[in-house]
Amino acid sequence: MKHLAIFTLLLLLQSACTNQNPSIVNTAKADKQTIEASSIPPITLVIHGGAGTILKENMSPELEEAYTSKLTEALNVGFAILEKGGSSMDAVQKTIHILEDSPLFNAGKGAVFTNDGHNELDASIMDGKTLHAGAVAGVKTVKNPIDAARKVMENSPHVMMAGQGADIFAKEQGLELVDSSYFFTQKRWDALQKALKNEQMELDHDDPNNKDKKKGTVGAVALDKNGNLAAGTSTGGMTNKRWGRVGDSPIIGAGTYANNETCAVSSTGHGEFFIRYVVAYDIAALMEYGGKSLEEAADYVVNQKLKEQGGRGGVIALDAQGNYVMPFNTEGMFRGVVQEGKEVEVLIYR
Ligand code: ASP
Repeated sequence: MKHLAIFTLLLLLQSACTNQNPSIVNTAKADKQTIEASSIPPITLVIHGGAGTILKENMSPELEEAYTSKLTEALNVGFAILEKGGSSMDAVQKTIHILEDSPLFNAGKGAVFTNDGHNELDASIMDGKTLHAGAVAGVKTVKNPIDAARKVMENSPHVMMAGQGADIFAKEQGLELVDSSYFFTQKRWDALQKALKNEQMELDHDDPNNKDKKKGTVGAVALDKNGNLAAGTSTGGMTNKRWGRVGDSPIIGAGTYANNETCAVSSTGHGEFFIRYVVAYDIAALMEYGGKSLEEAADYVVNQKLKEQGGRGGVIALDAQGNYVMPFNTEGMFRGVVQEGKEVEVLIYR
């Protein structure tokens, strides 16, 4: 009897030593992560910097390095917040803030131009614990639209504010406003001239043969120490969009969604499709009502539903267990992840 007890103890000890973290199964590099429901959810931050015709042969090593280091910086900033016990909302906001300040991405500083040569910015943020959300659309002077989205959520009775009213609200809230010239970048201006010549809205998503088409909408989803999810998205929209056009990024349920019961999602792609297919919420609904896993739900929406209709783009999605996926149906998507106990990973191509 005594021997049996010792033997059992030894067996238990051995399995604890040889299999230190049995609940985490890294299924395929960084593009997805499968975690058993029984384990303590690891704090996690997943980001994207836009999807589109992003091909290695069209990218210089310098540009690739610039994207990789900016995405890494953003992940480090956001993850430091989570590591200190900060909220997923703060992590999402501060991460997006970094990307908005970089001219590399189509958000904040690097925003694309409308048909009439202006920049109109959209952003949204959602708290998966409370289902509170905030968004701004078509703002022209707010340096960091994600901050304005959060202010709408926290300091107004509304969910979305648009146009001049949103710019004025941001000013009243003490946010930094800039002259519209701040948003000028030669690269985005040239892209507008090209699009005007071809009389097309945003060649980026719709013409895979167009060599220099890259996206740059930014988004983040996070899971904090308390098990709360959050999601946020920020964009300049689509090159050559008609002024006043609003895409999916500021629309809760299309570009952004977070609910602790299901998942946090941030989208990037041809916004008109993402609005009509209510992409972010559809993924959550497939989990909630359809019993699908995060991976099944996101894959179905991006690689079947959207793809069959010609809706180009992708999403990042994260559930409350720490499972994440980053499916896209374009040639590439700037994306990255950092999870407790693991290294930062940044990916660009398929
Ligand atoms: N979804 C954004 C929009 O349609 C653009 C993008 O993600 O590239 O405004």
